Amino acid sequence: MTTSVLKLVSEDPRASPFEGYRVLARKYRPSKLDEVIGQDFLVETLRRGLEGNRLGHAFILTGIRGTGKTTTARIIARSLNCENGPTPEPCGVCGSCTSIAQDRSLDVIEIDAASRTGVDDIREIIEASQYKAISARYKIYIIDEVHMLSKSAFNALLKTLEEPPPHVKFIFATTEIHKVPATILSRCVRFDLKRIKSATIRDYFKVLCEREKVEYEEDALKLIAKAAEGSVRDGLSLLDQAITYGSSHITTQKVREMLGLSDQGALLELFHSMMEGKVKEALEKLRFLYREGAEGARILEELLDLTHWIQCLKISPDLAENMTITAEKRQNGLELAQSLSIPTLTRVWQILLKGFEEMKGAPSPQKALEVTVIRLTHLAPLPSLNELLEGAFEGTFLKKKS
Ligand SMILES: [Zn+2]
Repeated sequence: MTTSVLKLVSEDPRASPFEGYRVLARKYRPSKLDEVIGQDFLVETLRRGLEGNRLGHAFILTGIRGTGKTTTARIIARSLNCENGPTPEPCGVCGSCTSIAQDRSLDVIEIDAASRTGVDDIREIIEASQYKAISARYKIYIIDEVHMLSKSAFNALLKTLEEPPPHVKFIFATTEIHKVPATILSRCVRFDLKRIKSATIRDYFKVLCEREKVEYEEDALKLIAKAAEGSVRDGLSLLDQAITYGSSHITTQKVREMLGLSDQGALLELFHSMMEGKVKEALEKLRFLYREGAEGARILEELLDLTHWIQCLKISPDLAENMTITAEKRQNGLELAQSLSIPTLTRVWQILLKGFEEMKGAPSPQKALEVTVIRLTHLAPLPSLNELLEGAFEGTFLKKKS
């Protein structure tokens, strides 16, 4: 672990020793720019702006959910209003820093535009913005989900953005930047928060586990980080679940169960039977998965994943990192990759996708899924042109091993 990652983890000063278990996202909410992970460009730009006190009067932060927009907005507020600032390193102890940390600063006003969309709400803000900050340097308005504002509310806001009082700063956050009028955007400095790389999330989680004295298996954290799909917040709530589910010992097996990837072995066997054209066997395996509680859509999704994975294995084993498949099953996958051609795998993919569509409209999704499986087992008599030309067609897709 690098020291730079370690430095990133500090507990939220709101932490109280009297509180019981707090969710990780709250406990480790970043309070300084340094602690924001996976947004290096944003952090560097803000740092420079704050050092030279060259930040504009309005910002807009955009990105998918859980990438740190509101957290960053609060950090900007602290940095601007710290009594020892503006500074990228708010002291955390002055009157302004502590009042923001405890959500009781009268000069930092947070508004959720999802619940206050009307022009009257905005008028109120605009009128109040004419008065100077009560105790801090700036009066800061953080407007979350700003795209939800009504047209007239945006128009009212625009007037203030055109001629802002010098003591006012606006920080907007949105997941849907395309819904924000261009006239507003052109008056804001825009920051795009990126999806966070799964390796970055994994490293961060390692540090958190060590801090929380939670034992973990490396692969388990990799799985969680991957399932987070770029959102630290989603990842943290999965990590919370894994800690509770595993009683403070996070194993790969338990995480697989938690994420619903419990029986990749059965899935591979199903795939195998289908490719061998064994209808009865395939249906038995499918029903087994159903009995185990797997949902039809989930089975299809995982079959699609599996097909993609085998295709990648075929092209290059390096491309085929699939965390949901154990090392033992990997060998099985390699064998499948050797026996199936790319055109065959492409057809399997198409049929699975078609099955997906059919299942949505079917009165019984389970039956629709069975029909897809039957169709796949009967793919055999339909070799691709290449296979015909190469004479590779042998009645089933799996070439007999010699
Ligand atoms: Zn301070």
